[in-house]
Amino acid sequence: MSNKEIIELTDAHVAGTYARFPIALVKGKGTRVWDADGKEYLDFVSGLAVCNPGHCHPKVVEAIKAQAENLLHVSNLYHIGPQAELAQLLSEHSFGDRTFFCNSGAEANEAAIKLARKYFSSRGVERYQVISMKKSFHGRTFATLAATGQKKVRIGYEPLLETFTYVPFNDLDAIKAAITEKTSAVITEPIQGEGGVNLPDDGYLKGLRKICDDAGVLLIFDEVQVGVGRTGTLFAYENYEVEPDIMTLAKGLGGGMAIGAMVAKESVASAFGPGSHATTFGGNPLASAAAKAAVEAVLDEGMLANCKTQGAYIMERLEELKSKYSFIKEVRGKGLIIGMEMDVPAGPIVTGCMDRGLLLIGAGELVLRFLPALIITREEVDEMMDILVEVLDTVE
Ligand SMILES: *Cc1c(COP(=O)(O)O)cnc(C)c1O
Repeated sequence: MSNKEIIELTDAHVAGTYARFPIALVKGKGTRVWDADGKEYLDFVSGLAVCNPGHCHPKVVEAIKAQAENLLHVSNLYHIGPQAELAQLLSEHSFGDRTFFCNSGAEANEAAIKLARKYFSSRGVERYQVISMKKSFHGRTFATLAATGQKKVRIGYEPLLETFTYVPFNDLDAIKAAITEKTSAVITEPIQGEGGVNLPDDGYLKGLRKICDDAGVLLIFDEVQVGVGRTGTLFAYENYEVEPDIMTLAKGLGGGMAIGAMVAKESVASAFGPGSHATTFGGNPLASAAAKAAVEAVLDEGMLANCKTQGAYIMERLEELKSKYSFIKEVRGKGLIIGMEMDVPAGPIVTGCMDRGLLLIGAGELVLRFLPALIITREEVDEMMDILVEVLDTVE
């Protein structure tokens, strides 16, 4: 099928929940993807921070093939080897002791919100409220929608769950003021992704940890977008020397396979017992085998170091553009999640780049977001910059 045929079929039969770009991608390898008409693109989106080790990483593909020939699925009523091994890997490389597996970021956050509630209710304590951040994004299920501090995703679904309150990111006084004796948890992305690549101020996450500790409140880090190597460390919280009580993962975890995870310390995780939470496909053999291979690839193939090096290089090159284009306001990022805030809409720039064989994405209306695979090379960064400059030259 051609781009046109796939688009027509989509328009006729697929739910219209996405404003899709007018191409259909049919092949990917490393940092490149190809559309149905054979056009090649340098990919700085990576399936939205999903394909961290690159498209179709050989070890991930090999793990999927090997697992697919043995066993695709069994119920979680039985033990699952690849799931246990993946959980071990996450325990060894994080603050956490136990992982609950699910299939998406929203589900991982859903589990985290439920676990925080269960943690207190199982102790006979009536704490059920959750504080989240303005401009946050936590998913589209009913609880995670309510956790999301952005009006645009909530419109038309009110009344929402009323157990969430919202405070500005990077404002410790606001957190202090918002905590009550009913607060169970504070949920935040260590770096806000969808909200515009917003970084925590120095000391903010440490301060947040202390406030939560003092008030006996759990701290949840949503690392669905920034986890699994994206910031140059396996988990983003490592950059800030702060450990959460619960962490959620999804996008990058499977290297392209759908899987979500909620990682927690034993003292918190133990509030979940048999029957307290579940999902049929969570941690199935196929997704777990792929995720184990993806995490190992990120850890073992120098991707974290490359992420830091190329991330710094992209930031340096983007900073240089500020003197040339007055509409560029700020460049910010960590590792290979980078945002460039402008006075002009990101949309037409994204489209202009796509026409020239470069995939980029916005984060909100005015921020251009860069999310290449962690294997991106300096030459590919230069290639990206050449195309970007060509497009920025056309901005009025
Ligand atoms: C994408 C995202 C989610 C939602 O993940 P889904 O897999 O789409 O449900 C949650 N939190 C953050 C920070 C995200 O970027």
